Amino acid sequence: NRQIRLTARPVGEVEPEDWEHVAEPAQEPGEGQFAGRTRFISLDPAMRGWLDDRPSYLPPVGIGEVMRAGSVIEVTASNHPGFHPGDHVVGTFGVQEHVVSDGKGAMKIDTSLAPPSTFLGALGMPGMTAYFGLLDVGALREGETVVVSGAAGAVGTMAGQIAKVKGCRVVGIAGGPEKCALLTDELGFDAAVDYRAGGVKRALREQTPDGIDVYFDNVGGEILDAALTRLAMHARVVICGAISQYNNATPFQGPSNYISLLVRRARMEGFVVFDYAKRYAEAAQEIAGWIGAGRIKVKEHLVKGTVDDFPETLQMLFRGDNIGKLVLELA
Ligand code: NDP
Repeated sequence: NRQIRLTARPVGEVEPEDWEHVAEPAQEPGEGQFAGRTRFISLDPAMRGWLDDRPSYLPPVGIGEVMRAGSVIEVTASNHPGFHPGDHVVGTFGVQEHVVSDGKGAMKIDTSLAPPSTFLGALGMPGMTAYFGLLDVGALREGETVVVSGAAGAVGTMAGQIAKVKGCRVVGIAGGPEKCALLTDELGFDAAVDYRAGGVKRALREQTPDGIDVYFDNVGGEILDAALTRLAMHARVVICGAISQYNNATPFQGPSNYISLLVRRARMEGFVVFDYAKRYAEAAQEIAGWIGAGRIKVKEHLVKGTVDDFPETLQMLFRGDNIGKLVLELA
């Protein structure tokens, strides 16, 4: 059973030396347990935060522990009444080839509805994040102007498309012409802003003539600051993430334009998707309906490899090498 374990806490960017590649004999399932083979591993920006020893919504991954990760496994043997060989199961099983589980926090998925990897993306955590972040925290209403940063990523592609389903004007911010073309030509965004080309503030002024009602922020830093200058009255700024800051060796850069919250009587609110766990089924059903009706397109970026490719694949998120949900598919 090959595993990736954390050996050191990175300062700034994660280095190959921060990981240990280990091989152990695969375990047999005990009473009330099942065993499975990992098929798909989710890569998430939040993983960078889990490596730091500071208070957060989850404890940090311990030194010497198998790296925490969401994944889809295929059950190979079972002494558990709820899981049978051949079942596909999603859960937080870690970066390893073989898994033994008592089923806590694990969920059987119906692969006739969608390919297994989609339960890590559009129908999984990123899809839930976009849905609840936009509709609950952002309190989105028809006809509003929505701006999404990190728009070509797992959460961003879903947030922008859900806002379109809800009848909003949607502007996406992403890195590079290829991603921007995807947003407008394939995913139905009304406009896209390439932040790598510079001039984000000016571009937002052009694309949001009536101001921004909901800003769904995945990146933080300068882009958040630019969006704050464009708020409409009673705007909602949804703090979903701040990937531009996760690799900082120094404290996060806060927004200097926050006073526009006062001027525009706006609010800024953060959230953690796990708090909505009781409503995942409801959201997944609605999203699956939109996908089935062709109103939402699923974008996934599958990298084929082994668990040993995990460290390098994780870095793709911070270089912007992924389009849509980044997943490591084990051969
Ligand atoms: P993505 O699929 O969006 O991948 C990350 C993307 O971030 C990259 O493709 C890149 O796109 C962009 N990026 C990387 N570095 C920078 C930078 N310095 N400045 C601007 N953009 C950058 O990841 P996810 O969709 O999985 O996650 C998106 C955000 O949502 C993250 O901040 C994550 O932490 C957050 N999140 C929050 C949750 C919650 O409960 N609050 C739950 C899940 C995710 P580009 O080429 O455009 O730069």
